[in-house]
Amino acid sequence: MDLGLKGKTALVMAGSRGFGRAVALELAAEGAKVALCARNEEDLANTAEDVRLVGQEVWGGMAGSVLTQALDVTDDQAVRDFVSLTESELGPVDLMLVNAGGPPAGNFEDLHLDDWKAAYELTLESAVRLCQLVLPGMKKRGWGRIVQITSISVLQPVENLLLSSVLRPAVQALTKALSDEAAPFGVTVNSVAPGFHNTSAVQRLIAKKVEQTGCKPEDVISAWTSDIPVGRLGEPEELAGLILFLMSQRASYLTGQCLVSDGGWVKKTF
Ligand code: NAD
Repeated sequence: MDLGLKGKTALVMAGSRGFGRAVALELAAEGAKVALCARNEEDLANTAEDVRLVGQEVWGGMAGSVLTQALDVTDDQAVRDFVSLTESELGPVDLMLVNAGGPPAGNFEDLHLDDWKAAYELTLESAVRLCQLVLPGMKKRGWGRIVQITSISVLQPVENLLLSSVLRPAVQALTKALSDEAAPFGVTVNSVAPGFHNTSAVQRLIAKKVEQTGCKPEDVISAWTSDIPVGRLGEPEELAGLILFLMSQRASYLTGQCLVSDGGWVKKTF
């Protein structure tokens, strides 16, 4: 299927590892120009090289345009500068993946007000800022795709993840509200809600559990997968495929949606 993404300019936030990295690689394979940011410069440089190689392998010669910037998505000026640089170097942004690290774990009594403020800045404010910077241009040009990564915590609170369970639904509400405003201008806004996927974030979670409890990594994984009908963790490429479809020309009638990718974990009819 031709996704119609060749030559498009894509902004991929938090893209050196995990889902962001998988999306950047898929975009390059589709012939898109990719602007990537994340916090760690070294990881970012390695991912950028892989993205460039994939683009050149598939499209040859001049393909594989990648721009990188090490930044934190909560840094207002750094994000503004990165969007401007992307537009001047790669062209106006057609596709945007709104993504960041997850807010820290904890239950109500573990969390101070400062934790709530930091989680708001990381999860909701950063998404609002990016949409403010990119959506008006997409509307003016009459085409665009915004995809936000949330979590299955938009559907039900997840144990020990209170900050995510409260703030992610607000990101979904932003998705839905913006989709209404953007739809008449040919711009779609959707989100994806992943369950457990095998990214570096989940590997860190497994290592922490092993350290805390002395159990084996496979015990942690099987405790999770026993509730997942597909019987395994997802791979980042599986979520990336879904995101690429949402970004494609083909997904022009899909907007305001939250697509859940969880191997059947959440038990809800609708
Ligand atoms: P990951 O740790 O594998 O990769 C995260 C990437 O984000 C890295 O490139 C890191 O440098 C970058 N990053 C983190 N915080 C940043 C910040 N403040 N500014 C800029 N870059 C930042 O994580 P992942 O699994 O790909 O997770 C991505 C998002 O998906 C997170 O919000 C996570 O909570 C959410 N999520 C993940 C899963 C899962 O199973 N992996 C499930 C549900 C939700």
